[in-house]
This record gives sequence, structure tokens and C-alpha cells, in this order.
Amino acid sequence: MTRDIGTQVLHADRMGSVEHGAVLKPLHIATAYGYSTAEELTAVFRGERPGHVYGRQGNPTTAALETKISLMEDAVGTVCFATGMAAICGAMMALLKKGDHVVASRFLFGNTASWMNTLAQVGCEVSLVDATEVANVQAALRPDSRMVFVETVANPRTQVADLQGIGKLCIGRGLLYVVDSTMSTPHLFQPKSVGASLVVHSLSKSICGHGNALGGSISDTGLFDWNRYPHLLPAYRKGPPAGWGLVQIRKKGLRDMGATLSAEHGHRIAAGAETLALRMDRACGNARALAEWLQNQPLVTRVHYPGLAGHAQHARAKTLFNDFGALLSFETVDGVDPFEVLNALELVIKSSHLGDNRTSALPVARTIFWEMGAERRASMEIADSLIRVSVGIESSADLLADFEQAFGRLARRG
Ligand SMILES: *Cc1c(COP(=O)(O)O)cnc(C)c1O
Repeated sequence: MTRDIGTQVLHADRMGSVEHGAVLKPLHIATAYGYSTAEELTAVFRGERPGHVYGRQGNPTTAALETKISLMEDAVGTVCFATGMAAICGAMMALLKKGDHVVASRFLFGNTASWMNTLAQVGCEVSLVDATEVANVQAALRPDSRMVFVETVANPRTQVADLQGIGKLCIGRGLLYVVDSTMSTPHLFQPKSVGASLVVHSLSKSICGHGNALGGSISDTGLFDWNRYPHLLPAYRKGPPAGWGLVQIRKKGLRDMGATLSAEHGHRIAAGAETLALRMDRACGNARALAEWLQNQPLVTRVHYPGLAGHAQHARAKTLFNDFGALLSFETVDGVDPFEVLNALELVIKSSHLGDNRTSALPVARTIFWEMGAERRASMEIADSLIRVSVGIESSADLLADFEQAFGRLARRG
């Protein structure tokens, strides 16, 4: 019998061999692991026997979280990192070489966009394209193209990439297809279903949900044929090829770069993951209600939410996702400054975080997209008045009431 993924995650630790019969994996804080013989130590060190050696490459608590993420993504394996950015940078540094070409979506999380500039500086050319149309990705491909990187739903404008079209293209060309699914979470979407090779998560967001831990992960869906990848070191080409890519990511990306997820944070993220389905259902419902309400406000010009019929990729989102997510953004009429809207909100937190149980909002052009300048903002369709809302799990009535009182105040001030 195949059980629901949520059920599997809840019981994953117990189904393994948990110390003392604990129902969840205990917190392991040891830096080092010792063995009774030199032979044993050597076998573990060389990866010939399972076990842990030194905490920078992982620990039992993090390994339990990796198992859960692999279950959620139907993946062959997962490597966790200290943050989502560390996961993205670690995987790319481990797999790319000078002279490689990367095609990435133009609509990216701000720090990922910034990282793409750094990647270009160290010798990988990056083409940024509008990934909502597979034709743009195809047109950018070159003989030296190695990787295609997209996000499922872009933050903050909620464009939905042509995930399926790009997946087919990458499989046809033997390209590594990396999908950052942070916005969708495994509860709404499994990138494996569209042919993704690697799945990225910022665990700091909805998977943790409680705003009390940072983390990131890379999962291998098993769909990519690592035999075709020229940059894998001979030492990592051992055992079934499905595991080769992650071994190199763990060694070159995690071990050598050292952005290790702390056991404490891994433990909190695992606790958050237990309630992901409940929290996402509630947050998606709230987001949809708020998007519909905002659409009817005279002071609001545009609302961006994939669940609205008017969204450019609504049909695609409906086909691909179980629900439309907890993130939306909107633009206000001339004369209504986003600062005024935000300052009139009492319950909603002015914060750059997202995927938190608490609703938060921020003025996009003057915060997270400030550093990149007006031209790049325009290319990413970021209006000056854009406000991003990461919708939480408060009661829907309380949330709408806060926006009602805020817009009421703005309307009265004329
Ligand atoms: C937040 C985020 C990241 C980075 O994650 P951190 O854990 O904050 O480093 C990457 N991608 C997306 C889509 C994000 O929202």
C-alpha cells in the first residue's frame, strides 16, 4: 500500500532505526563520530559503509530531514545546506566549470539573480530569459549550455515558468534541469513530474514555516543520466549513477564550501515539515481570498496571483499545481504610496521574510529589488508601487479586516 506523502513524513523517523524508540529523530550535536577500529573508521570515511565522520558533511539529525525531503519530492536523495542560497551556490559550484553556459529565468529571487552575476564573473556565461515561454529558453541554448535554472512561481510577480515545456526540452537535449520549488512546496507540486533533474528548496520558508530556522536543500529526482555529465570526478562515479551527482554536491559543494545546516535548525525544520500540508492549505485559502478582495479595491490597479482567472499563466498553474500558493503581489493607483498602505496595516508585519505562518508584506522596489537598479527592475516587471504579500495562517476574517481598515483609512484621507 502506498501511503500519502504527509503520512510518510510523519512516520519517517520511526520507520528508520531511531534511538530508544523515540518517535522523532533526536537532536545530534556531536561534531565528530568515533569508531572502535581503524578499519571501521576507514570504511566509513571512504563511503564504503554508512555512517558519519565529521559534522560538516552532515549528522544523523540532518540525515533524517534529508530522508523526509526525498520522500516529499519522490527523490533518490537530498543534501541539506545552511540556507537556500548555500544550496543553490553549492550545487552550481560543484557541478559547473569555467566556460559552461547557463540559461536561467529572468524572474528570479533577488539574491539568486545577484548570484547569477557572480557566476558570470567566475567564468560561466548566464543568459537570462523569460522562462514563461519555452521558446525563449530554446533560443538561448548553445552547444556549451550545461544547465537550465528556473523557479516554479516567481517571487514577487508570480510568473509561472513553462515548467513542462522546459522539462521536455532539457530531457531531449540531455541538459541538467534545476527547479527552485520554494514557492510551490512539495504539497502543491513535485518538479519531478515535469522532468526536473534537481529540486531546490529554501527550507527557511514554508517547509519550516515557523520563521525560526534557516536551511536549504538539493534533491536529485533520479531522472538525469549522470553518465552523460562530463564534470563528475572519477572518485564520485561509484555505485549506481543515480547517486553520482549528489555525492559531488555533498563533497565539493557542502564539505569543501562548508555551509552546513546546523542540527538545531534541521530539527526545527523537520518539525515544521510535519504540518506543511495543513499550513499550506490554510495559507493558500487565505491568499486566494485576499487576492479576490484586493481585485475589487479602487485604490489597487493590478493583483498578481496565479489563482486569479486574469493571471497570464492561470491555466498552466491550474494544470500543474494542487493549489495556487501563499504569495501574491499588487500595485496601487498613482498617488497611493506603498509605504502608506504598509504603514496602515496593523496585523500584517512589515518584513522581507516569506513563507512564514504570520502574514508579512514589503515594498518591493525599495527593498529586495533596490540594489539591482531601475532598468533590471523594469526587465523583471517590477512596478515602483508593487507590494508583495506572503500570506500566513491567521484567520481569513482577521486578515481581510486588517486590509479593510487600512484601505478604509487611505480612502478617507482622500
Ligand atoms: C528565500 C529563497 C531562496 C533563498 O533561501 P534562503 O534560505 O533565504 O537562503 C531561494 N529561492 C527562493 C525562491 C526563495 O524564496
